[in-house]
Amino acid sequence: MSRTPLISGNWKMHLNHLEAIQLCQKLSYELARHRYDQVEVSLHPPFIDLRSCQTVIDADRLEFKLGAQNCHDQSKGAYTGEVSPSMLAKLDVSYVIVGHSERRALFNETDEFIAAKAAAVAKAGMTPIVCVGETLEERESGQAAAVVTTQLRGSLAKLTRASFETLVVAYEPVWAIGTGRNASPEDAQDMCATARNVIDDIRRGTGEHVRIQYGGSVKPANAHELLRQPDIDGALVGGASLDAVQFARIVHAAT
Ligand code: PEP
Repeated sequence: MSRTPLISGNWKMHLNHLEAIQLCQKLSYELARHRYDQVEVSLHPPFIDLRSCQTVIDADRLEFKLGAQNCHDQSKGAYTGEVSPSMLAKLDVSYVIVGHSERRALFNETDEFIAAKAAAVAKAGMTPIVCVGETLEERESGQAAAVVTTQLRGSLAKLTRASFETLVVAYEPVWAIGTGRNASPEDAQDMCATARNVIDDIRRGTGEHVRIQYGGSVKPANAHELLRQPDIDGALVGGASLDAVQFARIVHAAT
């Protein structure tokens, strides 16, 4: 089964809309000869930058997919400060990250809420990138696989079988995010293979279709070794995605 790798840049709470436009343009220059049918690229700017990035992508016919970092599960209503899946779909957003460990830890997002968001994203015609991953304490006490299994079962619980065909899961060990300390390619492969088995157990026959990204301090120097692992189908990149040259080198490492 061949799965097209997906390299996603999570810009987090960085860059205003003018800086975001500049990064899109720099990236299009760095990836001028990139074959997007071989490796997909999605960019996940802050909400307020989405319209500007969409306009540049559209006007310059760039082949990046637009992504969001989060959304609410309701389509509209009295949810001050929130953004709905249908609003994102209207902006040509293709991928929405849900359940990032920063949202789980800093905003108390539960598997149940993440499951509702993932289902709402899929219902609005977009693809959720559902994040899972263990803390250092959980890894050191031998619970990594159990934690990720519980997160997957909870966070994917409300997705239809059809949504599993396009679903993306990101395995991101919390201790590797933004720390400069990545999981070894062997450990990352091991956890992604475990995640694939769990996914297949949740919906039989879908494990081989689901793309599983690795995330956690992916840099040009470690990208190739991580991305050549059989169960790693791309990367969710934080810090290095803010630098066009570094991000492009990670994309190239996937080809
Ligand atoms: C992330 O934001 O999901 C991430 C993996 O960040 P970083 O690449 O900076 O570790």
